[in-house]
Amino acid sequence: MFINDNRTACDASKPACPNEAISVGDPIYVIDALRCTECVGARDEPQCKLVFPADCIVPNPDVQESPEELMAKYESLHG
Ligand code: SF4
Repeated sequence: MFINDNRTACDASKPACPNEAISVGDPIYVIDALRCTECVGARDEPQCKLVFPADCIVPNPDVQESPEELMAKYESLHG
């Protein structure tokens, strides 16, 4: 997942990311692509999408991962 630069819309509280992938950047929140599993392994749907406005969170165009890769990442983060 990826937070676009719609700054005012993204001025929400830090969501409960199960992978601690979201941090407060300057000027916008940033998602660490190395930690984001699109919530695979933890939740049924991306938690950040529930907190931030829907048009504010978009799939990261630079990171295309299969569900299997996302699950493997989750397991490596929480192993
Ligand atoms: Fe965190 Fe899930 Fe959002 Fe990825 S999709 S940044 S794992 S809350």
